[in-house]
Amino acid sequence: MAKTLFEKIIDREIPGTIVYEDAQCVAFRDINPAAPVHILLVPRKPIPRLDSASAEDQALLGHLMLTAPKIAAAQGYGDAFRIVINNGAGAGQSVFHLHLHILAGRPLKWPPG
Ligand code: C5P
Repeated sequence: MAKTLFEKIIDREIPGTIVYEDAQCVAFRDINPAAPVHILLVPRKPIPRLDSASAEDQALLGHLMLTAPKIAAAQGYGDAFRIVINNGAGAGQSVFHLHLHILAGRPLKWPPG
């Protein structure tokens, strides 16, 4: 299987501004930020979409959800941030390697566009 774009960033084959990493996941700044803080948190495991995760990924998904607030806090926005997962092209997903968008640093309106 060809590597996803995000696997190449994880493996340092293409540049990315990595702000956090551990054994299960890596976080790096979005190249086209939609907010002053816009970080992508990705599992090292290349799960294509949220709905392609399975029961064996349960702990990994929990780890991502517990890690995202720590990254927001480390950026100075532990009290006001948004997590977004686009699932499928119709929902705006363009890179098919599961990722959490962590957005902060400006007023975040509801509902999102
Ligand atoms: O949810 P979606 O799949 O659209 O998000 C992909 C994100 O990956 C986009 O926000 C895009 O700006 C980002 N990206 C990036 N570096 C790349 C290619 C895409 O940060 N080289």
